[in-house]
Amino acid sequence: MVKVRTRFAPSPTGYMHVGNLRTALYTYLIAKHAGGDFILRIEDTDQERFVEGALDIIYNTLEATGLKHDEGPDIGGPVGPYIQSQRTDIYLKYAKKLIDKGEAYYCFCTKERIDTLRANSETSKDYKYDKHCLHLSKEEVNEKLASGLPYVIRQNNPENGVTTFHDEIYGDICVDNSELDDMILIKSDGYPTYNFANVIDDHLMGITHVVRGSEYLSSAPKYNRLYEAFGWQIPVYIHCPPIMKDTHHKLSKRNGDASFEDLIKKGYLKEAVLNYIALLGWNPGDEKEIFNLEELVEKFDYRNINKSPAIFDTIKLKWMNGEYIKKLPLETFNSLALPYYKEVISKSLDFLKISKLLQTRVEVLSEIPDFLDFFQELPDYSTDMYVHKKMKTNLQNSLNTLEKFLPKLEALAPWTFENIEKCCMDLVSELQVKNGVVLWPIRTALSGKKSTPGGAFEIADIIGKEESIKRIKIGIDKLRNENQ
Ligand code: GLU
Repeated sequence: MVKVRTRFAPSPTGYMHVGNLRTALYTYLIAKHAGGDFILRIEDTDQERFVEGALDIIYNTLEATGLKHDEGPDIGGPVGPYIQSQRTDIYLKYAKKLIDKGEAYYCFCTKERIDTLRANSETSKDYKYDKHCLHLSKEEVNEKLASGLPYVIRQNNPENGVTTFHDEIYGDICVDNSELDDMILIKSDGYPTYNFANVIDDHLMGITHVVRGSEYLSSAPKYNRLYEAFGWQIPVYIHCPPIMKDTHHKLSKRNGDASFEDLIKKGYLKEAVLNYIALLGWNPGDEKEIFNLEELVEKFDYRNINKSPAIFDTIKLKWMNGEYIKKLPLETFNSLALPYYKEVISKSLDFLKISKLLQTRVEVLSEIPDFLDFFQELPDYSTDMYVHKKMKTNLQNSLNTLEKFLPKLEALAPWTFENIEKCCMDLVSELQVKNGVVLWPIRTALSGKKSTPGGAFEIADIIGKEESIKRIKIGIDKLRNENQ
C-alpha cells in the first residue's frame, strides 16, 4: 500500500482564516489517521499577495494547535524545497514539456487585447481566452521569444468532449470541455500560477490525498487534464464545504471571528477552537462532540465530511470553550485569567479565590472583566436591588439585616471564609428568618450587582474586612435614606 501523504499549502496572506485552519486540520487528520505524512508547503507565487510576517503566523498556528508537520520549509524533507518561489525553474521545465506535447502554448497577447476580450464577454465568468496564440507558427513563436516579448504559457484545453473527475465528497463531476479556459500556467513574471504549481508539486511531492476548500472544485477538471497530459496518477480529491457566517454569507475576513488569532485574542482556548473547527463540516457519526487531537486522529474518517455548507455558530463555540475552561486545572485557569483580572482590578486580591468562583461560569476569557469590576470598586446601584420576592426581602428587613450585621462584622477575627459564613448564619438564627433575608442584602451591599460569581461569604472573604465594612455602611446609608 502506498503511504498516505497530504499537504497543507497555505498562501502567506497574513492571517489564518478559520477555513484555512480547518483545511490544515483535516489534512493533518487524514494523514495521521492512516499513519501517513503531513507536509507543509508554502504557496507564495502570487507575489502581490505576499504579506510580511505571514510565514510566522502559519508556523505559530500549526505549532499552537499541535498540527505538527513531517516535512516543510523549516524542517526540510526529501522533496524540497517546500516554498514555491524557490521552485520556479521546476515549473518552467514542466511547462515546456507540455508545450512539446501540444498540451500548452506560448501566448504573447497584450494586456489590452485580453482586457478587450474580457470586456466583450457577457460576464467575467464567461470570459475564455480565444486561443489566438495557439495558431502561431513555430517560427513566429521563436521570433517573438528571441525578440524578448513578454509571454505567458497557457494550457491547451480541447473544445469538444467532456472531462470528468471524482471528488470523495462531491462525487463524480462532469464538465463540458468547451467551458474550460486555457488557463495560464506560467505568468509573465516567470512565476507559475497556483493552478499549475499545485499539480506539479502535488505530483513531485508524492501527495496521495489533496484536501482543500470547495472553491477549487470548478478548477479540478483543468488539473485533471494536466495530470493526464503528463501521464501522472490523479490524487484523491477531498474538497471541503464552505464555512458560512449564516445561511447567506460566507465567513469573511471582515467578520472579526474569521481568523484563529482573532479567536485567541477574544479569549477562546486553542484546543476548543480546534475541536469546534473539526465539527464544521464533519461529524463522528455519533453524539460525541468533545475531542482532543489524539481522539480526532483516531476517529476522523474523511468519508464523513458533509457536502453542505457548515455554519460557524458562535454560541456553540462559546459553549464548547466553556467546557474546556471547566476542565482546566485551577492554576492554569488562573494564569490564563490573570491578564483579564488586571484589566479591571488594580488592588492586590487573592486571585486564585476569584478563579475558583469564575472557572465554572466563564465561557470566553474576554467576558471576565465584566464579571469582576465590582471587586475593584462598588458600583453605584439602586436600592431596588434589595427588594427580592423569592428571597422575601424588602427595604425594611434589608436595612435591619445590615444594621445587625455591621457590629458582628466589625468584631470578626480572624477574617476567614469560615468565620464570615458562621457570622452570617448566626444572624440567620438570631433573627429567625430564612437564609435569603440575611444573605441577599449582604451580597447586594458587598457587590452592588444583581448577580455575581460567588455569594456573600466568598465576596467578603476576597475584598477583605475593611472594604466589606465600608460597603455594608454604604448599604445602610442608602437604605436609611429610602426608609425615611
Ligand atoms: N494556496 C491555496 C490557498 O491558500 C491552497 C489551495 C490548496 O490547498 O490546494 O488557498
